[in-house]
Amino acid sequence: MKDLQPIQLPGVDNKRPIIIAGPCSAETEDQVMTTARQLAEHGVKIFRAGIWKPRTKPGGFEGIGVEGLSWLKRVKEETGMYTATEVATERHVFEALKHGIDILWIGARTTANPFAVQEIANALKGVDIPVLIKNPVNPDLELWIGAVERIYNAGLRRLAVIHRGFSSYDKQLYRNMPQWHIPIELRRRLPQLPIFCDPSHIGGKRELVAPLCQQAMDMGFDGLIVESHCDPDCAWSDKNQQVTPDALDYILNMLVIRETTQTTENLSELRHQIDQLDNQLLELLAKRMRVSREIGQYKKEHSMPVLQASRYDEILQKRMAQAVELDMGAEFMKEVMQAIHEESVHQQMEIINR
Ligand code: PEP
Ligand code: MN
Repeated sequence: MKDLQPIQLPGVDNKRPIIIAGPCSAETEDQVMTTARQLAEHGVKIFRAGIWKPRTKPGGFEGIGVEGLSWLKRVKEETGMYTATEVATERHVFEALKHGIDILWIGARTTANPFAVQEIANALKGVDIPVLIKNPVNPDLELWIGAVERIYNAGLRRLAVIHRGFSSYDKQLYRNMPQWHIPIELRRRLPQLPIFCDPSHIGGKRELVAPLCQQAMDMGFDGLIVESHCDPDCAWSDKNQQVTPDALDYILNMLVIRETTQTTENLSELRHQIDQLDNQLLELLAKRMRVSREIGQYKKEHSMPVLQASRYDEILQKRMAQAVELDMGAEFMKEVMQAIHEESVHQQMEIINR
């Protein structure tokens, strides 16, 4: 994919960060126009809005549908902004193109399905339009690259990806775990492919939008796609993560864009990897404690004692040997396992004595 081209939209500066902003969903003509006007006043050049919404369960707001495309056309005419929307089927592609949408994106649930991505690719043959491909919901880099290849093979060259985090079963800080090492590996594999960050879907909360934008910039990402709504608390979808156009403007003005001088850039990337790994360690520990509490419940129901010395000793010996194999000290691992075990016993005691 050596001949990938920049997104190239006349009037849009290619300097970092390229900003795409707009509501999660187009809800009413008034909400779309109000949000768009406010964003345009702050200098945003590309407007996003979901027209068809992939919802986890039926019954929620599933998007306004084709009607909303004419509102986006109006946004373009009245504000001069480019417009972007999500497509998941061949029909979405045809309708979006018919209504003059400038940029298409493929959502995370769609990227996870090669049949759907291929259907979109087929519908796009011979069309020259920028397409942004979100990562699949599951942390599978090959599946993500595969989706990019399908669109590329249909002849499209103005491609980019959007990092929106990966879903997880366990309770966590983020709505979708960033797993930064995955987009970083994608950058290494396809250095000419621009990467956008979607802090709204990673964070799931307004407070996390600003730090995630900064983190994406520190990682050398090219752009940001942020959900912005004129009245976030009343949004029909994803209300907790949307910010007003004024708040977005504030967030963007606070960003520190460090230029990519090799050594410090590499260091901050590495530090972010450490942060990310620590987050994963914490999440894993939380998962381990959850299993441990389940064991506590079992022990309670079967009147077993909390402490089973032989099992503990077996774990300790095994982990110390494994640590040595992995170039870590046995004593260090002993201390780590003792601390974990202590907390685990503590949590089981609480269940048993409840
Ligand atoms: C969206 O951008 O509103 C959306 C549905 O995102 P994702 O596909 O990342 O869940
Ligand atoms: Mn959304």
